[in-house]
Amino acid sequence: MLNIPLWQCYLVNCDPIWHHFYHLVLINKNSRSSIKKIYLWRKNLIIARNLDTVVVGAGFAGMYCLYKQIQDGFNAEIFEKADDVGGTWYWNKYPGARCDIESMDYSYSFSEELQQEWNWKEKYGTQPEILEYARFVSKKFNLREKINFKTSIVKARFINNKWMIETDNNIKIECKYLVLATGNLSTPNTPNIEGLSNFKGRIYHTGAWPEKMPEFEGRKVGIIGTGSSGVQSIPVISETAQKLLVFQRTANFSLPARHCELAENKRENYKKNYKKYRELAQNSSFGIAKYQPPTKSAFDVNEVERDEIYESAWQEGGQAMLFAFTDLLTNKEANETAANFVRKKIREIVKNKETAEKLCPNDHPIGTKRLCLDSNYFETYNKENVSLIDISNNPIQKFTEKGLVTNNMEYEFDDLVFATGFDAMTGAVNAIEISNEENVSLKSVWSKGPKTYLGIMVSDFPNLFMITGPQSPGVKSQMILSIEQHVNFIHDLIIHKKNNKYLQVNANNDKQNEWVNHNNEVANSTLYPLAHSWYNGDNIVGKTRNFMPYVGGVANYKNICDEKIKNDYEGFEFL
Ligand code: FAD
Ligand code: NAP
Repeated sequence: MLNIPLWQCYLVNCDPIWHHFYHLVLINKNSRSSIKKIYLWRKNLIIARNLDTVVVGAGFAGMYCLYKQIQDGFNAEIFEKADDVGGTWYWNKYPGARCDIESMDYSYSFSEELQQEWNWKEKYGTQPEILEYARFVSKKFNLREKINFKTSIVKARFINNKWMIETDNNIKIECKYLVLATGNLSTPNTPNIEGLSNFKGRIYHTGAWPEKMPEFEGRKVGIIGTGSSGVQSIPVISETAQKLLVFQRTANFSLPARHCELAENKRENYKKNYKKYRELAQNSSFGIAKYQPPTKSAFDVNEVERDEIYESAWQEGGQAMLFAFTDLLTNKEANETAANFVRKKIREIVKNKETAEKLCPNDHPIGTKRLCLDSNYFETYNKENVSLIDISNNPIQKFTEKGLVTNNMEYEFDDLVFATGFDAMTGAVNAIEISNEENVSLKSVWSKGPKTYLGIMVSDFPNLFMITGPQSPGVKSQMILSIEQHVNFIHDLIIHKKNNKYLQVNANNDKQNEWVNHNNEVANSTLYPLAHSWYNGDNIVGKTRNFMPYVGGVANYKNICDEKIKNDYEGFEFL
């Protein structure tokens, strides 16, 4: 009668007095034991649920968290806005979307059986392949029956040691633990520019791409944004569009991915040695096995040797160049040697000199914004149907029926693509009305920038956990590796609380401040803060500037977490 996962529903009575209430009985499909009474208020259904753990989001973080919870007998469920699993890889179906970390790294390590069973086909997983992998995982570990799809969590209030949660479809849930697996790059940012509703053509955002791929054949397309999403989609859209206009506010560094099919012998060799590779990844800075810390400064070698090293990294593809020397992300002059090398390459590739100059990044050190990896990005500007429009000094003034206006010039197109990124790291958390026992909202506590303890908890918000939250190394790493480490830590913390019969676990405020200060110190010892990027909220108008990721490296971070556990969960308070 009703489509509610896990529950079979019977309408048993129409209340004669409270005639606008209907009594329903819900029978748990699994256990068939627990019976609940719920009420139908006219046509608005209010369902009361009781769980140990509510996990928000069915991306890689939410799925692994649910898996751990089920394994240990917790009554846990996921609530997910989308109608499928995959998170990032569900929403970002834009042309050319793929991973820029090699498939053999970008995957779960928690199950040897899964590692051996799944066969990646390409060096860098495509969006469809990664989404398929996410679906495969959800089926293999029977997670889907515990996922409430098409359901957003909108409100959460902590009262009497419980989180009282509300969804957008009137489900009310009471639970002990609330885990936010809501994603760092899951709230698309569409710039607030006058007149968008006047535009008569089709509008897309790379971060919320439609299921059915739009045809661009014979159409004039305008795309705004040249971050990773733009860099990936521009070459592919240019293959079919009659004309592609690229509106670039800031030129970006991009390195060739050197994408190819994954040879079977390479894949099998990796699979045989997975243990070794996963360990290498865990002990590295960015969670990628092949990028081990360099040993030489850029100035330990002469210019010719340095350029040979950069050339070999350029030919190899991927992020290798950033791992060539110890000081590329800490010393401006060292960084400039790599930046110059890439600018030289851009000038070699792009035939039109004026366009090449516009494409050369000059406003930030290389690597301080998320470095893009591309397949023929700069080459695309040699195509006759592609035009680069530099809007660095002439912001978009308004949208019109037929296109947009910048510098008092109107550009016309049939389709508009926003590759304008995300309200990163805090967007999805702040979209939920979360408040603590004192009715203080998390959004207000974070109004001047997020503060967390280890990127996992926020002081005064007990029993609330974040996976790869602000001040964790998540977004500065191969994210699935960080996700697994965070989930393991959170899960063990919950078990510790449960075994000791505590009602609450909370982050100590002083320890949280220490952690935030440590984060800022580490960031300020690098060149990262010199860039305007989503790392520090600069991409969102009105967002307080705050460097959010922990850039001390995943290995250091894990050691710090392990140390906290050894010291009896130092920094966590139990009640
Ligand atoms: P997500 O995958 O973002 O999942 C969060 C889920 O929570 C979403 O499904 C969302 O719908 C749901 N949600 C949010 N709020 C609510 C709510 N209130 N109620 C219900 N549901 C909610 N990382 C890498 O390491 N390597 C890469 O190469 C790489 N490439 C990327 C490419 C793109 C295009 C993007 C956008 C990101 C990329 N990332 C990459 C980062 C990527 O986000 C992570 O690797 C990883 O997929 C994050 O998983 P997650 O589960 O933490 O979050
Ligand atoms: P992004 O890096 O934030 O880039 C957004 C782009 O839109 C920038 O070029 C930005 O210009 C431009 N922009 C934003 N607002 C604008 C405005 N009002 N007018 C004109 N231009 C505007 O977003 P993204 O490309 O979606 O990538 C976000 C992150 O997702 C990446 O850094 C990465 O972590 C992940 N990702 C990874 C891959 C991958 O290869 N695996 C692919 C896509 C995304 P400014 O630079 O001037 O702000």
